[in-house]
Amino acid sequence: LTFLGIESSCDDTAAAVVRMGDAGPEILSSVVAGQYALHEAYGGVVPEIAARAHAEKLDICVESALAEAGVRLDDLDGVAVTAGPGLIGGVMSGVMCAKGIAAGAGLPLVGVNHLAGHALTPQLTDGLAFPYLLLLVSGGHCQFLIVRGADDFTRIGGTIDDAPGEAFDKTAKLLGLPQPGGPAVETEAAEGDPKAFHFPRPLLDRPGCDMSFSGLKTALLRARDGAMAARGGLTRQDRADLCAGFQAAVCDVLAEKTRRALSEYLALSPAEPAIAVAGGVAANKAIRARLEQVAAGVGARFAAPPLRLCTDNAAMIAYAGLRRFQLGHRDGMDLSARPRWPLDQGAPAMLGSGK
Ligand code: ATP
Ligand code: FE
Repeated sequence: LTFLGIESSCDDTAAAVVRMGDAGPEILSSVVAGQYALHEAYGGVVPEIAARAHAEKLDICVESALAEAGVRLDDLDGVAVTAGPGLIGGVMSGVMCAKGIAAGAGLPLVGVNHLAGHALTPQLTDGLAFPYLLLLVSGGHCQFLIVRGADDFTRIGGTIDDAPGEAFDKTAKLLGLPQPGGPAVETEAAEGDPKAFHFPRPLLDRPGCDMSFSGLKTALLRARDGAMAARGGLTRQDRADLCAGFQAAVCDVLAEKTRRALSEYLALSPAEPAIAVAGGVAANKAIRARLEQVAAGVGARFAAPPLRLCTDNAAMIAYAGLRRFQLGHRDGMDLSARPRWPLDQGAPAMLGSGK
Protein backbone atom coordinates (compact mmCIF):
# COMPACT_ATOMS: atom_id res chain seq x y z
CA LEU A 1 0.00 0.00 0.00
CA THR A 2 1.30 3.45 -0.92
CA PHE A 3 -0.29 6.65 0.37
CA LEU A 4 0.15 10.33 -0.34
CA GLY A 5 -0.26 12.50 2.76
CA ILE A 6 -1.14 16.19 2.88
CA GLU A 7 -0.82 18.50 5.90
CA SER A 8 -1.76 22.19 6.18
CA SER A 9 -3.37 22.67 9.59
CA CYS A 10 -1.03 25.34 10.95
CA ASP A 11 1.95 27.10 9.37
CA ASP A 12 3.73 24.22 7.62
CA THR A 13 2.67 23.09 4.16
CA ALA A 14 3.65 19.45 3.80
CA ALA A 15 3.29 16.46 1.50
CA ALA A 16 4.76 12.97 1.83
CA VAL A 17 4.61 9.47 0.44
CA VAL A 18 4.60 6.45 2.77
CA ARG A 19 4.60 2.82 1.72
CA MET A 20 3.56 -0.13 3.84
CA GLY A 21 5.67 -3.13 2.90
CA ASP A 22 6.19 -6.58 4.38
CA ALA A 23 9.01 -5.21 6.51
CA GLY A 24 6.84 -2.40 7.88
CA PRO A 25 6.22 1.20 6.88
CA GLU A 26 8.74 3.22 4.90
CA ILE A 27 8.83 6.98 4.33
CA LEU A 28 9.57 7.43 0.62
CA SER A 29 9.54 11.23 0.84
CA SER A 30 8.61 14.00 3.27
CA VAL A 31 8.50 17.60 2.06
CA VAL A 32 7.85 20.43 4.52
CA ALA A 33 7.63 24.09 3.51
CA GLY A 34 7.51 26.37 6.56
CA GLN A 35 5.91 29.80 6.55
CA TYR A 36 7.75 31.43 9.44
CA ALA A 37 9.09 34.27 7.30
CA LEU A 38 5.56 35.26 6.27
CA HIS A 39 4.33 35.56 9.86
CA GLU A 40 7.46 36.92 11.50
CA ALA A 41 6.48 40.57 11.37
CA TYR A 42 3.17 39.83 13.14
CA GLY A 43 4.65 37.91 16.08
CA GLY A 44 2.41 34.91 15.49
CA VAL A 45 0.65 32.89 12.82
CA VAL A 46 -1.93 34.95 10.90
CA PRO A 47 -4.67 32.48 9.80
CA GLU A 48 -5.61 34.34 6.59
CA ILE A 49 -2.00 34.56 5.42
CA ALA A 50 -1.42 30.91 6.32
CA ALA A 51 -4.44 29.72 4.34
CA ARG A 52 -3.42 31.63 1.24
CA ALA A 53 0.18 30.43 1.45
CA HIS A 54 -0.99 26.82 1.79
CA ALA A 55 -3.20 27.18 -1.28
CA GLU A 56 -0.22 28.51 -3.22
CA LYS A 57 2.34 25.96 -2.06
CA LEU A 58 0.37 22.71 -1.86
CA ASP A 59 0.70 21.78 -5.55
CA ILE A 60 4.47 22.24 -5.52
CA CYS A 61 4.85 20.28 -2.28
CA VAL A 62 2.79 17.39 -3.65
CA GLU A 63 4.78 17.38 -6.89
CA SER A 64 8.10 17.35 -5.02
CA ALA A 65 6.92 14.60 -2.67
CA LEU A 66 5.89 12.39 -5.61
CA ALA A 67 9.10 13.13 -7.52
CA GLU A 68 11.34 12.47 -4.50
CA ALA A 69 9.52 9.21 -3.82
CA GLY A 70 9.80 8.26 -7.47
CA VAL A 71 6.09 7.44 -7.74
CA ARG A 72 3.32 8.63 -10.04
CA LEU A 73 -0.32 9.16 -9.14
CA ASP A 74 -1.27 5.73 -10.52
CA ASP A 75 1.21 4.09 -8.15
CA LEU A 76 -0.80 5.40 -5.19
CA ASP A 77 -3.49 3.50 -3.29
CA GLY A 78 -4.99 6.51 -1.60
CA VAL A 79 -4.74 10.14 -0.51
CA ALA A 80 -4.73 11.06 3.19
CA VAL A 81 -5.29 14.60 4.37
CA THR A 82 -5.46 16.41 7.70
CA ALA A 83 -9.15 17.26 8.15
CA GLY A 84 -8.65 18.95 11.57
CA PRO A 85 -8.10 20.18 14.18
CA GLY A 86 -6.35 23.37 13.14
CA LEU A 87 -6.74 26.77 11.51
CA ILE A 88 -9.84 26.27 9.41
CA GLY A 89 -8.66 28.10 6.27
CA GLY A 90 -5.46 26.07 6.10
CA VAL A 91 -7.23 22.77 6.74
CA MET A 92 -9.73 23.64 3.97
CA SER A 93 -6.88 24.33 1.52
CA GLY A 94 -5.44 20.88 2.17
CA VAL A 95 -8.79 19.09 2.06
CA MET A 96 -9.68 20.71 -1.27
CA CYS A 97 -6.28 19.84 -2.73
CA ALA A 98 -6.67 16.21 -1.60
CA LYS A 99 -10.20 16.00 -3.01
CA GLY A 100 -8.98 17.30 -6.34
CA ILE A 101 -6.23 14.69 -6.53
CA ALA A 102 -8.48 11.86 -5.34
CA ALA A 103 -11.25 12.75 -7.79
CA GLY A 104 -8.88 13.37 -10.69
CA ALA A 105 -6.86 10.20 -10.21
CA GLY A 106 -9.75 8.03 -9.03
CA LEU A 107 -8.14 7.35 -5.64
CA PRO A 108 -9.73 6.72 -2.24
CA LEU A 109 -9.73 9.74 0.09
CA VAL A 110 -9.10 9.40 3.84
CA GLY A 111 -9.48 12.30 6.28
CA VAL A 112 -7.07 12.18 9.22
CA ASN A 113 -7.06 13.81 12.64
CA HIS A 114 -3.80 15.80 12.88
CA LEU A 115 -3.33 14.57 16.46
CA ALA A 116 -3.70 10.94 15.35
CA GLY A 117 -0.83 11.67 12.96
CA HIS A 118 1.37 12.81 15.87
CA ALA A 119 0.14 9.94 18.05
CA LEU A 120 0.95 7.20 15.50
CA THR A 121 4.38 8.61 14.60
CA PRO A 122 6.27 6.49 17.20
CA GLN A 123 4.89 3.41 15.47
CA LEU A 124 6.01 4.70 12.07
CA THR A 125 9.51 5.60 13.23
CA ASP A 126 10.25 3.12 16.03
CA GLY A 127 8.00 0.22 15.14
CA LEU A 128 6.11 0.37 18.45
CA ALA A 129 3.31 -2.19 18.58
CA PHE A 130 -0.13 -1.34 20.06
CA PRO A 131 -0.84 -0.64 22.81
CA TYR A 132 1.48 2.07 24.09
CA LEU A 133 1.23 5.07 26.35
CA LEU A 134 1.78 8.37 24.59
CA LEU A 135 2.60 11.85 25.82
CA LEU A 136 1.43 14.10 23.00
CA VAL A 137 3.03 17.46 23.61
CA SER A 138 2.82 20.09 20.88
CA GLY A 139 2.02 23.68 20.00
CA GLY A 140 -1.65 23.37 20.85
CA HIS A 141 -1.98 20.18 22.86
CA CYS A 142 -0.67 18.27 25.85
CA GLN A 143 -2.24 14.98 26.82
CA PHE A 144 -1.60 11.41 27.91
CA LEU A 145 -3.20 8.88 25.60
CA ILE A 146 -3.38 5.13 25.64
CA VAL A 147 -3.01 4.23 21.96
CA ARG A 148 -4.64 0.85 21.35
CA GLY A 149 -5.08 1.10 17.60
CA ALA A 150 -4.97 3.52 14.68
CA ASP A 151 -8.45 4.59 15.67
CA ASP A 152 -8.50 3.90 19.37
CA PHE A 153 -7.23 6.55 21.77
CA THR A 154 -8.09 6.95 25.45
CA ARG A 155 -7.14 10.19 27.17
CA ILE A 156 -6.06 9.75 30.79
CA GLY A 157 -5.09 13.35 31.55
CA GLY A 158 -3.67 16.49 30.07
CA THR A 159 -3.31 20.23 30.37
CA ILE A 160 -6.17 22.16 31.86
CA ASP A 161 -5.05 25.39 30.19
CA ASP A 162 -2.13 26.09 27.81
CA ALA A 163 0.04 23.67 25.88
CA PRO A 164 3.79 23.70 26.59
CA GLY A 165 4.60 24.59 22.96
CA GLU A 166 2.48 27.71 23.30
CA ALA A 167 4.35 28.55 26.53
CA PHE A 168 7.74 28.06 24.81
CA ASP A 169 6.60 30.37 21.99
CA LYS A 170 5.33 32.98 24.46
CA THR A 171 8.57 32.79 26.44
CA ALA A 172 10.58 33.44 23.28
CA LYS A 173 8.34 36.36 22.40
CA LEU A 174 8.68 37.95 25.86
CA LEU A 175 12.48 37.62 25.69
CA GLY A 176 12.81 38.89 22.12
CA LEU A 177 13.87 35.51 20.71
CA PRO A 178 12.79 34.29 17.25
CA GLN A 179 9.80 32.04 16.51
CA PRO A 180 9.17 29.14 16.74
CA GLY A 181 10.12 29.62 20.35
CA GLY A 182 10.93 26.04 21.32
CA PRO A 183 14.30 25.63 19.59
CA ALA A 184 15.38 29.20 20.49
CA VAL A 185 14.54 28.76 24.18
CA GLU A 186 16.23 25.35 24.24
CA THR A 187 19.46 26.83 22.83
CA GLU A 188 19.46 29.71 25.35
CA ALA A 189 18.63 27.38 28.24
CA ALA A 190 21.81 25.39 27.62
CA GLU A 191 23.83 28.47 28.71
CA GLY A 192 21.69 29.34 31.71
CA ASP A 193 21.34 28.54 35.41
CA PRO A 194 17.91 26.98 36.02
CA LYS A 195 17.99 28.10 39.69
CA ALA A 196 18.74 31.79 39.08
CA PHE A 197 15.01 32.63 38.96
CA HIS A 198 12.14 30.93 40.75
CA PHE A 199 9.51 29.12 38.67
CA PRO A 200 6.55 27.21 40.15
CA ARG A 201 5.74 23.53 39.43
CA PRO A 202 1.97 23.83 38.87
CA LEU A 203 -0.39 21.02 39.99
CA LEU A 204 2.37 18.73 41.26
CA ASP A 205 0.73 18.84 44.67
CA ARG A 206 -2.49 17.45 43.23
CA PRO A 207 -3.09 13.78 42.40
CA GLY A 208 -3.63 12.61 38.84
CA CYS A 209 -2.12 13.33 35.44
CA ASP A 210 -3.58 16.76 34.72
CA MET A 211 -1.16 19.61 34.09
CA SER A 212 -1.16 23.40 33.92
CA PHE A 213 1.28 25.68 32.12
CA SER A 214 -0.34 29.12 32.09
CA GLY A 215 1.22 30.00 35.47
CA LEU A 216 4.70 29.53 34.01
CA LYS A 217 4.05 32.32 31.50
CA THR A 218 3.03 34.65 34.30
CA ALA A 219 6.08 33.62 36.35
CA LEU A 220 8.33 34.31 33.39
CA LEU A 221 6.81 37.74 32.80
CA ARG A 222 7.28 38.64 36.47
CA ALA A 223 10.86 37.37 36.63
CA ARG A 224 11.73 39.19 33.42
CA ASP A 225 10.28 42.48 34.64
CA GLY A 226 12.07 42.04 37.98
CA ALA A 227 15.41 41.52 36.26
CA MET A 228 14.80 44.47 33.94
CA ALA A 229 13.91 46.77 36.81
CA ALA A 230 16.97 45.69 38.80
CA ARG A 231 19.47 46.16 35.98
CA GLY A 232 17.78 48.59 33.63
CA GLY A 233 17.48 45.91 30.97
CA LEU A 234 18.00 42.21 30.32
CA THR A 235 21.55 40.89 30.16
CA ARG A 236 22.44 37.92 27.97
CA GLN A 237 22.89 35.87 31.12
CA ASP A 238 19.42 36.92 32.41
CA ARG A 239 17.89 35.72 29.17
CA ALA A 240 19.70 32.37 29.35
CA ASP A 241 18.80 31.96 33.04
CA LEU A 242 15.13 32.73 32.39
CA CYS A 243 15.04 30.17 29.58
CA ALA A 244 16.81 27.58 31.73
CA GLY A 245 14.44 28.17 34.66
CA PHE A 246 11.36 27.97 32.47
CA GLN A 247 12.52 24.81 30.68
CA ALA A 248 13.48 23.10 33.93
CA ALA A 249 9.99 23.76 35.31
CA VAL A 250 8.37 22.27 32.18
CA CYS A 251 10.71 19.26 32.43
CA ASP A 252 9.87 18.67 36.10
CA VAL A 253 6.12 18.88 35.52
CA LEU A 254 6.18 16.61 32.45
CA ALA A 255 8.49 14.09 34.17
CA GLU A 256 6.43 13.78 37.35
CA LYS A 257 3.09 13.60 35.50
CA THR A 258 4.54 11.05 33.10
CA ARG A 259 5.67 8.96 36.07
CA ARG A 260 2.07 8.95 37.33
CA ALA A 261 0.51 8.27 33.93
CA LEU A 262 2.95 5.42 33.42
CA SER A 263 2.10 3.82 36.75
CA GLU A 264 -1.62 4.14 35.95
CA TYR A 265 -0.93 2.52 32.58
CA LEU A 266 1.28 -0.25 33.96
CA ALA A 267 -1.55 -1.16 36.34
CA LEU A 268 -3.41 -2.35 33.22
CA SER A 269 -0.61 -4.93 32.71
CA PRO A 270 0.30 -4.25 29.06
CA ALA A 271 2.30 -7.13 27.54
CA GLU A 272 5.24 -4.95 26.46
CA PRO A 273 5.14 -1.74 28.49
CA ALA A 274 6.16 1.20 26.34
CA ILE A 275 5.87 4.97 26.50
CA ALA A 276 6.36 7.27 23.55
CA VAL A 277 6.50 11.02 23.18
CA ALA A 278 5.35 12.92 20.09
CA GLY A 279 4.50 16.45 18.91
CA GLY A 280 6.72 19.48 18.39
CA VAL A 281 7.82 19.86 22.02
CA ALA A 282 9.06 16.25 21.92
CA ALA A 283 11.93 17.65 19.83
CA ASN A 284 13.34 19.18 23.04
CA LYS A 285 16.41 17.20 24.08
CA ALA A 286 16.19 18.04 27.78
CA ILE A 287 12.57 16.87 27.87
CA ARG A 288 13.37 13.70 25.94
CA ALA A 289 16.22 12.85 28.31
CA ARG A 290 14.04 13.33 31.41
CA LEU A 291 11.22 11.18 30.04
CA GLU A 292 13.67 8.48 29.06
CA GLN A 293 14.86 8.38 32.68
CA VAL A 294 11.29 8.05 33.92
CA ALA A 295 10.69 5.12 31.55
CA ALA A 296 13.96 3.43 32.52
CA GLY A 297 13.01 3.80 36.19
CA VAL A 298 10.07 1.42 35.73
CA GLY A 299 11.60 -0.78 33.03
CA ALA A 300 9.34 0.51 30.23
CA ARG A 301 10.54 0.92 26.66
CA PHE A 302 10.93 4.55 25.57
CA ALA A 303 10.47 5.83 22.02
CA ALA A 304 10.87 9.33 20.65
CA PRO A 305 10.67 10.05 16.89
CA PRO A 306 13.54 11.85 15.12
CA LEU A 307 13.24 15.63 15.58
CA ARG A 308 11.94 16.43 12.08
CA LEU A 309 9.07 13.97 12.57
CA CYS A 310 8.12 15.43 15.96
CA THR A 311 7.10 18.76 14.42
CA ASP A 312 4.42 18.98 11.74
CA ASN A 313 4.95 16.87 8.63
CA ALA A 314 2.87 14.89 6.16
CA ALA A 315 4.55 11.49 6.59
CA MET A 316 2.59 11.08 9.82
CA ILE A 317 -0.62 11.97 7.97
CA ALA A 318 0.09 9.53 5.13
CA TYR A 319 0.79 6.80 7.69
CA ALA A 320 -2.29 7.52 9.83
CA GLY A 321 -4.43 7.59 6.67
CA LEU A 322 -2.97 4.32 5.47
CA ARG A 323 -3.76 2.68 8.83
CA ARG A 324 -7.30 4.08 8.81
CA PHE A 325 -7.73 2.81 5.26
CA GLN A 326 -6.66 -0.66 6.43
CA LEU A 327 -9.41 -0.44 9.05
CA GLY A 328 -11.94 0.25 6.29
CA HIS A 329 -12.25 4.03 6.58
CA ARG A 330 -13.05 5.96 3.38
CA ASP A 331 -14.25 9.52 3.03
CA GLY A 332 -16.37 11.01 0.29
CA MET A 333 -16.34 14.36 -1.45
CA ASP A 334 -18.38 15.64 1.48
CA LEU A 335 -15.33 15.40 3.79
CA SER A 336 -15.27 18.66 5.71
CA ALA A 337 -12.58 20.58 7.57
CA ARG A 338 -13.03 20.61 11.34
CA PRO A 339 -11.45 23.38 13.45
CA ARG A 340 -11.93 21.28 16.61
CA TRP A 341 -11.75 17.49 16.76
CA PRO A 342 -10.94 15.74 20.06
CA LEU A 343 -8.88 12.64 19.44
CA ASP A 344 -10.81 10.31 21.70
CA GLN A 345 -14.19 11.37 20.39
CA GLY A 346 -16.17 8.29 19.49
CA ALA A 347 -13.59 6.00 21.00
CA PRO A 348 -14.93 3.84 23.83
CA ALA A 349 -13.70 4.90 27.25
CA MET A 350 -12.26 1.72 28.69
CA LEU A 351 -10.47 3.38 31.54
CA GLY A 352 -12.62 5.05 34.14
CA SER A 353 -10.26 7.70 35.42
CA GLY A 354 -9.15 11.15 34.46
CA LYS A 355 -11.80 11.82 31.82
P1 ATP B 1 -0.84 20.88 17.34
O1 ATP B 1 -0.08 19.70 16.83
O2 ATP B 1 -1.13 20.83 18.81
O3 ATP B 1 -2.05 21.18 16.52
P2 ATP B 1 1.18 22.45 16.07
O4 ATP B 1 0.93 21.51 14.95
O5 ATP B 1 1.26 23.90 15.82
O6 ATP B 1 0.10 22.17 17.21
P3 ATP B 1 3.69 21.14 16.36
O7 ATP B 1 4.21 21.45 15.00
O8 ATP B 1 3.40 19.74 16.67
O9 ATP B 1 2.49 22.05 16.83
O10 ATP B 1 4.74 21.72 17.37
C1 ATP B 1 5.15 23.07 17.28
C2 ATP B 1 5.48 23.51 18.68
O11 ATP B 1 6.62 22.76 19.12
C3 ATP B 1 5.84 24.98 18.76
O12 ATP B 1 5.14 25.54 19.84
C4 ATP B 1 7.35 24.96 19.02
O13 ATP B 1 7.81 26.04 19.78
C5 ATP B 1 7.51 23.63 19.75
N1 ATP B 1 8.88 23.13 19.64
C6 ATP B 1 9.55 22.82 18.52
N2 ATP B 1 10.82 22.46 18.80
C7 ATP B 1 10.94 22.55 20.17
C8 ATP B 1 12.01 22.35 21.10
N3 ATP B 1 13.21 21.98 20.68
N4 ATP B 1 11.76 22.56 22.42
C9 ATP B 1 10.54 22.94 22.84
N5 ATP B 1 9.50 23.16 22.02
C10 ATP B 1 9.69 22.98 20.70
FE1 FE C 1 1.14 19.44 15.12
